[in-house]
Amino acid sequence: MKRTSFLLKFLLGLTLLLLATQTLLLVFFTQRIRQDLQETTLTSLRTSALLLKEWARPELVSLFSGQSSDVLGRVSNRAGYRISLLDAQGALLQDTHLTPGVFRDGGPSPELDQARQTGEGWSSGYSQVMDKPLLTYALAFRDGGPLLGFIRMATPLDGLNQTLDGLFVFFLSFTFSALGIVFFLAWLYSRVFSRGMGTLIRNSGAFARGEAYETVYLERPRELRLLSLALNKLYVQLEERIETVHQQRDELAAILSGMVEAVIVLDNQLLIKTMNPAARRMFPFDRDPIGTSLIEVCRHSSLDEFARLQLTEESASSRTEILLRDLETTLQLQGAALRTEAGRRWGVVLVMIDITQLKRLEAMRRDFVSNVSHELKTPITNILGYVETLTEGAIDNPLKARPFLETIERHAVRLSLIVDDLLILTRLENSPPMEGERRQVNLTELVPAALPIVEEKARVRQVQIETFLPNEPLRTTAYPLLLEQALVNLVDNAVKFSDPGSRVLVTLEVLPIGFEIRVDDEGPGIPANELNRIFERFYRTEKGRSTPGTGLGLAIVKHILNLHRGTVTVESPVPGTRKGTRFVLHLPLTAESALGLGGPEDPE
Ligand code: ADP
Repeated sequence: MKRTSFLLKFLLGLTLLLLATQTLLLVFFTQRIRQDLQETTLTSLRTSALLLKEWARPELVSLFSGQSSDVLGRVSNRAGYRISLLDAQGALLQDTHLTPGVFRDGGPSPELDQARQTGEGWSSGYSQVMDKPLLTYALAFRDGGPLLGFIRMATPLDGLNQTLDGLFVFFLSFTFSALGIVFFLAWLYSRVFSRGMGTLIRNSGAFARGEAYETVYLERPRELRLLSLALNKLYVQLEERIETVHQQRDELAAILSGMVEAVIVLDNQLLIKTMNPAARRMFPFDRDPIGTSLIEVCRHSSLDEFARLQLTEESASSRTEILLRDLETTLQLQGAALRTEAGRRWGVVLVMIDITQLKRLEAMRRDFVSNVSHELKTPITNILGYVETLTEGAIDNPLKARPFLETIERHAVRLSLIVDDLLILTRLENSPPMEGERRQVNLTELVPAALPIVEEKARVRQVQIETFLPNEPLRTTAYPLLLEQALVNLVDNAVKFSDPGSRVLVTLEVLPIGFEIRVDDEGPGIPANELNRIFERFYRTEKGRSTPGTGLGLAIVKHILNLHRGTVTVESPVPGTRKGTRFVLHLPLTAESALGLGGPEDPE
């Protein structure tokens, strides 16, 4: 459309220009030619008049003196001029084109007036006598004295007009031929041009719609050839760049979606541009968050403030920690402004790491150190106190010294027990058992084999240990020594917290989902609010504190079960009764597949 209108405008302009130049040329040449021809004709009229004057001087003198003389009758007038002889008053005496006696006054004669004054004169005008436009020349005739008359020569100007008409026709036909040629060439050029342009436009349009660019080579015209070559090159480069951009985008998307850290990219209005899956999980939103403000999606003013500072403050700290609205999750937040090459900040990238677990571990580590110190401190203080009392003299009194030494021994044993348990825990945490320690075991044999260690204690406390075992062997793969240790810890606790005369029941069962070893006692039980804490290191219930123990036994059991991909659970009172505690060791059915896959999952 645009191309057509441009062509039309171009052709219209060209036509007007051509017509204007041609008209100007025509006017100029017409005038010039008219002038030249007039001058030439005038010169020839003058020459003829002068010749006539000299050639027929005597006859003319007699004619102008009133005598009759046929001057013109003797003149051979090949040029066909109209020759008139007039007296000094301008009355016509003889005329080549009028019969004598029927002379008429030809109207005003400016040429005669001029000749009367200057000797010669001329005029151009329409002659009614000749019925043509005439150029007239008049020559005053004197014979050395006063003005006797005039010789007047006239010739029609129609030849001149014909010449000019011819010229006009020539110019006109030249103009139209030129216009025709221009129109034809323009049409031809536009056809070739528009066909080539059409192909280029079609291909570019297809490329813009995302289709592959089809290489075009246009031979003619030269401009289109160069354009097609340039476009081919351009699109190849563009395709390569697009490919690179796509690759980079995919790489970035893969990296972002594989990241554990939440990443949010914001523009300078703090509207979300990118949000990786981890960030979407961290801040669930009911619709697509892209284009929404950070505060609307995250609903966290500190986070919004932090992002704003990255954008506006050059010296803003790039790292901070925030607590989410659930008051449990702690995020470590890292931010950086995104800049253009010129250094202008156009956005912010925020990277968030959930450090809740890290914080918990940190707190646990601190608690652990303080617990260990506390647990070790009590026996050591006691030992030192008694040793001091002994050295101050009590040692010399055997009656006093003995109980002191027994107390020292008790505390030393406690210290030793704590250290032993700590060593077991550390070994379980830091260096999982060797492959060689794992083997096929028969649980039906393993369970009773663990009990003799606690049987003596049970006998002293008058507690009855009863076992309920299946008749058939239950085979699995396990670390037998560790499993025995876990069972001993549970049965030892059960005996420890049982009143004399009560029973401890140890049951082994195979269920569809795995093996279960249950240890039930009829002791005081564990308060419900403490049930989930007893597996923590050094944790001892209110009542349990009066009973000897380290508070590490159940933590060791949990670790051992983790190592077997099993679990340990506790119920109090024992289901179906009103007292006692039930501990259950759950072992997966195919312990084979679960074992040897690494260390414990839960460090507690
Ligand atoms: P401890 O060496 O003190 O027994 P454990 O880790 O084995 O340490 O047990 C932690 C605490 O759990 C005990 O101090 C006790 O308060 C409670 N507990 C464990 N087993 C029983 C049980 N069978 N009956 C009552 N309380 C128990």
